Parts: sequence; C-alpha cells; structure tokens
Amino acid sequence: MHMLPLLSPFRKLCLVILGSLICTANSLATTQVLHVGTLLAVPGNKPLKEQTLVIENGLITQIIDGYQVASAFADSAQLIDLKDRFVMPGLMDMHVHLQFELGPKNDSDSLKMSDQLVEMRFLMFAMRTLKAGFTTVRDVGSMSQEMYAMRDAINQGWVDGPRIIAAGGVGITGGHADISGVKPDLMALYTKPTICDGPYDCRRATRDAIKYGADLIKITSTGGVLTDRATGTGQQMEMDELKEVVLAAKRMGRKVASHAHQEDGIIATLEAGVDSIEHGTYTGEKAIKLFKKTGAYLVPTLLAGDTVVGMAETADFMSPAIKEKALRVGKDMQGNFAKAYQAGVKIAFGTDSGVSQHGTNAQEAVLMAAAGMSNMDIIKSATVNAADLLGMSTEIGSLEVGKQADIIATDGSPLDDITQLLDVDFVMKGGKVFVQK
Ligand SMILES: [Zn+2]
Repeated sequence: MHMLPLLSPFRKLCLVILGSLICTANSLATTQVLHVGTLLAVPGNKPLKEQTLVIENGLITQIIDGYQVASAFADSAQLIDLKDRFVMPGLMDMHVHLQFELGPKNDSDSLKMSDQLVEMRFLMFAMRTLKAGFTTVRDVGSMSQEMYAMRDAINQGWVDGPRIIAAGGVGITGGHADISGVKPDLMALYTKPTICDGPYDCRRATRDAIKYGADLIKITSTGGVLTDRATGTGQQMEMDELKEVVLAAKRMGRKVASHAHQEDGIIATLEAGVDSIEHGTYTGEKAIKLFKKTGAYLVPTLLAGDTVVGMAETADFMSPAIKEKALRVGKDMQGNFAKAYQAGVKIAFGTDSGVSQHGTNAQEAVLMAAAGMSNMDIIKSATVNAADLLGMSTEIGSLEVGKQADIIATDGSPLDDITQLLDVDFVMKGGKVFVQK
C-alpha cells in the first residue's frame, strides 16, 4: 500500500491510497477556533467576554458571541482554548534594528563576523521579538539587502519571524546615518550609496533606496546619540534636502520616518511633511503644534533612552562623545514624551530595540505608563496606531473579520496591569502558533 500526503490547490489533505486520490474536506488544520475569555478585538473599544474567533488559512473569518463548538466550522477544526486568557492583537514595534545589539563587543564583532553570520543572528533576534508578542516590526536601520532578504523570506514562509516593514536609510555625509568612529579606509569602504548632500543628490538617494527594496524611507534629520563624533543632536539635514526626500518618496508611494532629537530638527522635519518622528526627545510647544497640524506620529523610544543612560553610567565601552549625548538625551526623553502625550500628539509604539535587547520590547510599555500614559492608549499605540502609521489598517492592528490572525494572549488584563505584556503566554502570527503556554 502506498500513502502519500499531498496538498491540493484547495489546501485539503489528499492521500494516494491504492492508486486513487482521496481528499477529505479541510483535513489540514486550516480552520482554527479560539475560545476567548476576554477579547480586546479593537483597542480603544471595550473588551468582550466569552467570544469565539474563527480563523481560516491565517485570516479571521468570524467572531461570534459565546463558545461555539469547533466542529461546527469544519470537521477537522483545531480548537485553541484561551478561556482563561486576555486576548488582543499582536503587538507592533515601529522602531527596531534587528541586525544589531548594543554592547561592549560591537567593534570586534563587526570586524570578525561575516554578513552571512550577521544574517543568522538577525533571524535569532527576529524570533525573540516574535516570541515576545511582537508580530510586526518596522526595521528602521539594518544592512539593507540583508533586511529585505529577511523580510521576503519571512513573507514567503521560508523562515519564521515577525512581519518586517523595512526602511531604506537616507542621510547626509558625516550625519547620524553615515559611518563614524573607525579609520578612514574603512569609512570609505562602508559609505552607503544612500548618503547624500544637497537636494538633488538626496532625491537620487531616496530613489536608490526604493529601487533596491525599501518599504519606506528613514532619514536622520538631526545628530544622534550613537554617532561617534561630537556633532551634537541638533538639525543637520537642510530644509531643501528634507523636502526633496519627502517628495521623492511620496511620488513613489513611500512614507518617511525621521530620526530627530532637538526641536529645531523636529520642526524642520515636520514642516517638510514626514509621517513620523523617531525619538522626538526635545519636542516642545512649537513642535507639538506642528505634530497636531500635520498628523504625524511620535515614536518615542523611551527604552533606548533608559538603556543608554544605564550603559553610560555603568559600562566603559562608550566613547566620550557618545557618553555625553547618552546621559543628556536619555535622561530628557521621558519628561518630554509626557508633555507631548498630554497635549494629544499621536503616539506609535517604538523601542529602538538593538540599542536595548531584542525581545524586551514590552519594557517600553512600562516606561510609557510611568510617564503617565493610560494602559489603553499604550495598547492602542502598539496596535491600531502602529497599523495606521504603516498604512496597513485593513490588514493588521485589530482583530476583525478579514484581517490577519496576529493574536497574543496574557494571563491577566494589561488594561489593569501593563506589566502583563512582559509575559505573553500565546503568540499567533497569520494563524501559525509560536508560543502557547
Ligand atoms: Zn534607531
């Protein structure tokens, strides 16, 4: 007797038995039925009790009151019991660097590790992030082709990982996106083709990033903490450069995210029309007005500030230039974020993981809560707001019919205690279960 399982085009399980092909309806567990104790389907709305969620081929197809029998939906439907859990959409981090993790061995690692080995470590960091409940991330700075390859391999289902929305970086010579802190020959060798000067060159750089696979453009309009040069954290890109990048990106249907610390840079960048400001450390009254006028999001990255302050105070691997910026910027982040939140600036969740350790992303939520943000607003920032920032609200960010089954669960309600997000008991992405405690 010869038995060979086959996937038919309709994703039914077929067996070749004694020469004839026999298929059974929905034999593969492509229908999943979740019994959910508390369901926060759309963050911002009230959670519902005792719900049944039906998932077919990775998409949510029904949400029904009460606990419905699984076999009512398909003979072989898989039942997942989350009756004693709080269930919500997968978390989304709008600011990660999945190829990197800040530490004392960064310099020697970058000399010793091949790009291929870095890619393998990237996969490990990506899985840590997914297992922590982050089903979608926006990578705003990694080696570009390696990042696009990882994104595409995950989307193809060749390897597991979170959904990656990949940014192509555009920045100016000597600015925060450019290489620093190594000898001139190495800097020349590793200067990226998307480093530009002047509006036309930055137009070219933006188009170059899109040509090679960028989902969005990330610019660095001000100086940055981890640039190994004492060039401050104020505005560095000129208005003509900022405007050209935004225009070139928008012409090709790409959004623009900008790293910015000092208020002069935040203001210029918002005036140029970007979609989000990353860090936004010194967001003052004028910047707050512009945020509200333009509708841009602030991605606060409080965890990065917290991490670099801790490292500057206790570790000795930072150069004097980096240490000075880390202590100043890191300490100022939380207070300024609180003012922006109170004033009604739109917030999207982002950690700068890579500065902090991958997989600890939910610590950002704890810092946001400490700054006075409500638990529901924190959850919104990491779900519906993040999806809106990505322009993906029809696919992800909430649990509604037709959307991806990107689902997490916790023991208790993070609406009552935000630290529940630090220990996620169940993670599903596109119908595939990655964590089930
Ligand atoms: Zn960053």
